[in-house]
Amino acid sequence: MADSRTPPEVDRAAASRRAVEVRRARAALKRDVSTRVVTPQELLRRAWADPASPAGTMRVTEFLTSIPAIGEGKRDRILSELGISPVKRLGGLGSRQRTVLLDFIDGRLPEAVARPGRSRLLVLAGPTAVGKGTVAAHIKEHHPEILLSVSATTRAPRPGEVHGEHYFFVDDAEFDRLVASGELLEWATVHNRHRYGTPKAPIDTALAEGRTVLLEIDLQGARQVRAAAPDATLIFLLPPSWDELVDRLVGRGTEDAEERARRLRTAKVELAAQGEFDYRVVNDDIARAAAEVATLAR
Ligand code: 5GP
Repeated sequence: MADSRTPPEVDRAAASRRAVEVRRARAALKRDVSTRVVTPQELLRRAWADPASPAGTMRVTEFLTSIPAIGEGKRDRILSELGISPVKRLGGLGSRQRTVLLDFIDGRLPEAVARPGRSRLLVLAGPTAVGKGTVAAHIKEHHPEILLSVSATTRAPRPGEVHGEHYFFVDDAEFDRLVASGELLEWATVHNRHRYGTPKAPIDTALAEGRTVLLEIDLQGARQVRAAAPDATLIFLLPPSWDELVDRLVGRGTEDAEERARRLRTAKVELAAQGEFDYRVVNDDIARAAAEVATLAR
C-alpha cells in the first residue's frame, strides 16, 4: 500500500503495475477454467469471497466464455436469460444474480459429488507430471497402514529402483504370461512405450485383511479398475493451476516445440477425464495432498 507521502507518479506507476498483474492473474484463471484445472464454481467462490481479487474483477462475459463449450453466441443468450448485464464483473453481481448464475452452472456442469461408502481400494490418477508418484511415495512413508500396490513393468529399472519395492521389473514374455493367466487387475501401455500392470493377489489379500490399498496408475488403468471393481474410490490429482502444470511438463525446455505441443494436448485430454472420478485433490503441497488422499481411505 502506498502511503500519503509517496509522489503521485510513483503511485501511478505502482497502480499500473498492479493492474497489469491483476490482468495477468485473470488471464491465468481463465486458462485454469478452460482446461478444467479450476471448476467454474470454485472461481465463483473466489470471486464472491473477495470481489477485488482477480476472480472478483473478471467480467461475466469472460467467465462464461472460459467454460469449455460456451462460445460468444451462447454466452449472450445465457446472460439475457439470466437477466445479467454483460458489463458486470463477477464480484459486482447482486445476490439474486449470484444465485441464478450459480444455479445455471450447477445445472450445466455439476461438480463431482463425493460418493461416500466406497471401498478401501483407492486409485490415484491424474495428468502426466502432476506429481502422483511423489504424493504416493509420501503416503507410503507416512501412512504405513495403507498398502501401496507394487506394479509389474516391462521398463528397465532406473538407478536406485529396487525390484519388488518400486516395481516388479519383468521382461515381455513374463508380462504376457501375467496377462494371459489373469494375474493382473488392470494393465496398460503407458506413453506408447512400456507395459505396466497391477498384480491382483496382494490387493485381494490386503483388502481381505481389512487394509486400505492405494494404486498409483495411469488413466487407462483407472478406467479398467472402475470396470472391474465398480465400488473402488477413484481420486483425480489436479495441479494448482494450468500454468504450473505447463511448467512441470515442459519447464526444463529440453524438448522441441512439437514435443511440447504434444504434451500440452495430452494434458488437456487427461484433465477432461476428471469427471469420471469420485474425488478431486489439488496437489498444491505434497504433504497436504497426501493427507487428504489418506483421509479418503476411511
Ligand atoms: P514411471 O515409468 O515413470 O515409473 O511411470 C510411468 C507411468 O506409469 C505413471 O503415470 C504411472 O502412474 C503409470 N503406472 C505405474 N504403474 C502402473 C500400473 O500398474 N498400471 C497402469 N495402468 N499404469 C501404471
